[in-house]
Formats: sequence, C-alpha cells, structure tokens
Amino acid sequence: MLSQAIEARRASVVNRKPKHIVIVGGGYVGLYTSLRLQRTLRRELRDGSVRITLIDPQSYMTYQPFLPEAAAGNISPRHVVAPLRRVLPKVRVLNGKVSKVHHEARTVTFEPSVGQSREIEYDVVVMAAGSISRTLPIPGLADAAIGFKTVGEAIALRNRVLALLDRADSSEDEEVRRRALTFVVVGGGFAGIEALAELEDMTEDAIKYYPSIQQKDLRWVLIEASDRILPEVGPEMGEWTAEELRERGIELKMKTLLKSCEGGLVKTSDGDSFESATIVWTAGVKPSPVVNSGDLPLDERGRIMTTTRLTVAGVKGAFAAGDVAGVPDVTNPGQYCAPNAQHAVRQSKVLGDNITAYLRGEKLKDYRHKYAGSVAGLGLHKGVANVYGVKLRGIPAWFMHRTYHLSRVPTVNRKVRVVADWTLSLFFKRETVSLGQLENPRDEFRAAAQSGPAR
Ligand SMILES: Cc1cc2nc3c(=O)[nH]c(=O)nc-3n(C[C@H](O)[C@H](O)[C@H](O)COP(=O)(O)OP(=O)(O)OC[C@H]3O[C@@H](n4cnc5c(N)ncnc54)[C@H](O)[C@@H]3O)c2cc1C
Repeated sequence: MLSQAIEARRASVVNRKPKHIVIVGGGYVGLYTSLRLQRTLRRELRDGSVRITLIDPQSYMTYQPFLPEAAAGNISPRHVVAPLRRVLPKVRVLNGKVSKVHHEARTVTFEPSVGQSREIEYDVVVMAAGSISRTLPIPGLADAAIGFKTVGEAIALRNRVLALLDRADSSEDEEVRRRALTFVVVGGGFAGIEALAELEDMTEDAIKYYPSIQQKDLRWVLIEASDRILPEVGPEMGEWTAEELRERGIELKMKTLLKSCEGGLVKTSDGDSFESATIVWTAGVKPSPVVNSGDLPLDERGRIMTTTRLTVAGVKGAFAAGDVAGVPDVTNPGQYCAPNAQHAVRQSKVLGDNITAYLRGEKLKDYRHKYAGSVAGLGLHKGVANVYGVKLRGIPAWFMHRTYHLSRVPTVNRKVRVVADWTLSLFFKRETVSLGQLENPRDEFRAAAQSGPAR
C-alpha cells in the first residue's frame, strides 16, 4: 500500500513541471533565504517538485560588516566571503547578472559574464539584489574616488593606503608626501566610519616601520553632510564616536559637502581645498539598478514596493527583502525597515518560510522585528555599541562587535577561520605589507616582453 502511494506521488511529480524559484542576488538575503529554503523545502527538493536557481555576478556572498577589518588586515579577505556553491549544494548557482525581470511573462533576462544572454522562466522570483553606492555628479568623483562595498574595494584600499606610506617614506618632495599621506572618507554612516577608523588604526601601527613618517604627518579627513555621524547607534554614541575620532587626530568636517575632487584636488563646501591620493566614497546607497528595468512596482525611493509579508505589492509569485526592498516596519508604523544586515538576516528567515507557505498554499506571516541597536568597530580594542539601550564604548563595545558578528557570519567553517585570524593577531603583529602588484599582475611580464630579445 505504502509503496503504491510513494509510486503514485513519484509519478505525479514526474508528470508535473517542477516549480522554479529564481533568486536574484547572492548576498545576505540571497544566501540566508536559500539556506532556509534548503531546509523548509527539503522534501520537495529531493523529489524534484521544486528547484532553486540563485544568480549573482560573484560566486560568493560577502559579509560586508567585516570589510573594514579585512581592509585593516585583521581578517583574511578569503574569510569574509562564503562560497555559494559549497554552502548551497541543493541550489543551482549561476554567475552573471539579471538585467531585467519581466514578471508578467515570469522570466528574468540572465547575462552570463561571457556569452549570450538568455531568458530564464520562473514560478517564483525573489528580489535580493541589494544596493550600490549612491553617487552624485561631483566633478572628478568617478575617476578619483573608490567605494567601500565589495571585498575587491576593501583590499584595493588597504593596498593603496600601505603603498602610499611606501611612496611617502621614499620621497623627499613635501608635496608628494603630503598628498600621499592625506586620506579622505566621504560619508559618516557605518561603512564610512568603520573604514576610516580601522584604516587609521592600521596606519598608526604601520608607521613604526617607516622612519620618516610621524603620526603628525598623517591627515585623515571625514566629510559628512549632516551634523552627526553613525546615526545607527543613536545621537549620544554618535557624539562619543566623534569625540574619540577627534582625539585620535581625525578631522571631522561636519555639515560639509564634497564639491569636487578632480585629479585628487579636494574642494569642500567650507572653502577648504587640498590634495589627496585617497578618496573613499561611502555617502549612502541606492537600490541595485536591476529594479529599473522590469515591471515590478517601485516606491518613491526607487526600492521594490514590498508588503509586510515580503511579497512584492500587487503581484503574485514575487518576493523581495533587504536593501533593494521598501519593507514597511510594523513596529514603527509609517516607517520602513532600514537597509542593514540586522533586517536582511531576519527578513530572510521569514522570506524562506513565506515562499514555502506560498508554494504549499498556506498562510503567509508578517515580518516583525524591532531594531535592536547597533555595534561598530573603530580599530583594534576600540568600538561603540548601543544594543537594547545598553550603551558601551571602548574594549567592551569592541568585544561585543566581534562576538555579535561572529555569531552572524555564515557557516561554522567561516566562524572558525575568523577566530583563527583574530587569535593570530593577538600573538603576532598584523601584516602591514602592500600587495598592490596583485591588481596589475601582468605589468612586469609585459615590460619584460617589450624589452626586446636577449642578446
Ligand atoms: C562596509 C559595510 C559595513 C556594514 N556594516 C554593517 C553593520 O555593521 N551592521 C549592519 O546591520 N549592516 C551593515 N552593513 C549593511 C549590510 O551589509 C547590508 O544592509 C546588507 O548587506 C544588505 O543585504 P542584501 O542581501 O540586501 O544586499 P547584499 O548583501 O549587498 O547582496 C546583494 C547581492 O546582489 C547581487 N546583485 C546585485 N545586482 C544584481 C543583478 N542585477 N543580478 C544578480 N545579482 C545582483 C550583488 O552582487 C550582491 O551579491 C554594512 C555595509 C557595508 C558596505
């Protein structure tokens, strides 16, 4: 009897086309939602009635809150990413980007990194494409500045800062030295403040090996349009962070705008003008451009209009979460969930459950999470935290920052590697060597090939 029932189920599955879930983006939401679906849809994935495809230009998920520590050399760059194919054995991973979502036809246009683009059909689409740096039409910005959202940018920045110390130490030209040793960060949110504080901390360690560079020679400048920094940790802790950064000699230009930076000549709205070889732009994010070339509804800020159940408003078979989505905050009526990892991770859990419920014809649930506060690292043994109203600074906050993120970073494998990195840096000094050559590995060979035949 039982075997007949199994046979009947198998036959019905064979005759039915599997339901296809396509996930656009393999960051926080893409990875955590897939992990959840691997569990909740275990049976369907096994019997072939459901299949999942995840599309991302990269083959890994980046744990962005660890980028500042990777830039400072406390964590190896390989340990701040999770390889999608290894972590998601039940999910088909495709590398390339989705250039269009045509929901009425239930297709996405997939552009592999090389070759022809193709249409991929789906039954359910999950928009998890996150955000990109929000830039402004500032003269010189696109050429002179770098963002801080990817592991490539974080490591390039690290190499650049260290290479500039090399350059300054090897030069006797005051102008060359001043330009090399002036570092500018624009934007005082999480990314900007953590990048600035971690890198400044690293340079302070590194200059011990540069006999001609003193701490007074380094100029770190933050340019922030509003009158506060780190809004994520609240006004009091933001103020404390500002004080701590000033004590470390970092210049905070508040209520100031970057006017231009052509050729590295920085001009600000307070009338200041100076040369800098490093300009980091972290002044906000905007939804991934894929949202603009499809038929999914957008809200007034250009995010995908999403309901409290993480479905796309007004359509069936489409879900969205994370930075790309405008998710109403049910704990704060009239407001939206902020674009941060805390929401992204929690939304993914509800998202996975709701997709499963949708496929099984069950009731979907609301996403509800009251923002718990934030932690931020400001360099080795330095931090700031405001969690459930408990405000900490210095070593306790730094410790909380590390333990919180360690608990969140995906997979046991990554956690162990990150702990190993941290433990090593307790006993040995961090590496302060620039491997900038990695960015142009063929230069030396090309020069050798162009130097002509050997005589
Ligand atoms: C330096 C830094 C530090 C941060 N620190 C914190 C912190 O301490 N605490 C906190 O709460 N938040 C922090 N954040 C914010 C947090 O990382 C983001 O809110 C979170 O990553 C959002 O998750 P997501 O899945 O929406 O987007 P992401 O994690 O950015 O993932 C989006 C994915 O979509 C892919 N994608 C984009 N376009 C396409 C396309 N067209 N087709 C296919 N794939 C596409 C991208 O390649 C990417 O992999 C930090 C961010 C940065 C940059």
